Amino acid sequence: MRIINKRLRSVGVIATLLTALISFTGCASGNTAVDKNTTQQVQGESKGDGSTSPASVNENSGVKGELKVHFLDVGQADSILIQQGEQSMLVDAGNNDDGNLVKDYLQKQGIKNLEFLVGTHPHEDHIGGLDYVINAFKVGKLYMPKASSNTKTFTDVVNAAKNKGLSFTAPNPGESFKLGEATVTILSPNGSGYEDLNNYSIVVKVAFGNTSFLLTGDAEDVSEKEIMAKGFDVSSTVLKVGHHGSNSSTTLEFLSKVNPKYAVISVGKDNTYGHPKQNILDRLKGKGIPVYRTDESGTIIATSNGTSVTFSAKPGTYNGFGNSTGSSDKSSYEEKEDSAVASTAAPAPSVKEESSVTTPASESSSSNRIVYWTPNGKSYHYDKNCSTLSRSKTINEGALSSTPKSDPCDKCVK
Ligand SMILES: [Zn+2]
Ligand SMILES: [Zn+2]
Repeated sequence: MRIINKRLRSVGVIATLLTALISFTGCASGNTAVDKNTTQQVQGESKGDGSTSPASVNENSGVKGELKVHFLDVGQADSILIQQGEQSMLVDAGNNDDGNLVKDYLQKQGIKNLEFLVGTHPHEDHIGGLDYVINAFKVGKLYMPKASSNTKTFTDVVNAAKNKGLSFTAPNPGESFKLGEATVTILSPNGSGYEDLNNYSIVVKVAFGNTSFLLTGDAEDVSEKEIMAKGFDVSSTVLKVGHHGSNSSTTLEFLSKVNPKYAVISVGKDNTYGHPKQNILDRLKGKGIPVYRTDESGTIIATSNGTSVTFSAKPGTYNGFGNSTGSSDKSSYEEKEDSAVASTAAPAPSVKEESSVTTPASESSSSNRIVYWTPNGKSYHYDKNCSTLSRSKTINEGALSSTPKSDPCDKCVK
């Protein structure tokens, strides 16, 4: 019975998605094309600024102040806040149950506006909290790849954006934009029709003075190859290691091209996917690259003054998951559960009034089933060990009919 309900729900959601939901604005408007002289422009702009700001122009780098990149501890997920001057950008927002955590963290930083918000790809561990963020902050531009998913999580994001009058902007690799004095360049996705949603990940490079950060989402070897084939300059001071340290990503060739001084892995302790993989950590170790890990250090803040980057935490260990080498890669729940619906067609027309999404709340036939939920999360779970529950101190338990949560977890409720 439940299976039938779920299937019906999926069909309903897909139908809704196809008919009404996604609105991609033209992606070229207002953005400058890739410019090899970007760094020089940054320098040019910042010189001759006679402001009395205490932040003087940093020696040699030509930029003022700092770039702060916060790798939030959202467990087995990604959420990265980038701040420069008065401007802020968020790349991903953790799992569904991380929505409040991400929102609170941003508010603690005094953030009211996000000039840019990026959902790298429609997996729950990246866009789960995105609807909270959209609801809580004024968002300038929302970048999402031209890929969708038949999950409640994705529908939530679409609806939150629609309610805010915010449309999706499709990434256009090669385009760049300013975040304060930093320059953000989009490097992917460079193709379509990927088997794996991970390869739709929007990869961005954030350059500030002579330093840069490469944020890769869950991009895998396929996308890494395409980025290199495009000839983009991927060399970066800091690499956010792709796909939580899965061996689907961070090929030796790509790592050599990026040639990072530091690496950061956003990953949950004792996650069920076996991330990060020992061979990826060995690869980083072999190149003498210090690795900062959210599973070992919690939230990590990297600060650039335009010349060098410092970290709020000590480098982590090179111990892979379970410390085993070459174990089989059960890396992604994602491939199995989320069927990708890539929209290769031209951007859909703007969002229309749409009231046909039915709340998939009532599955009354199984109302006695024991489920689990957290006080702040919005989903209920069948699996007490569901990775999206794992970081919460309080886990409530009760019959399905008694839970105050209406959303089935995308991962463990099937
Ligand atoms: Zn992920
Ligand atoms: Zn993913």
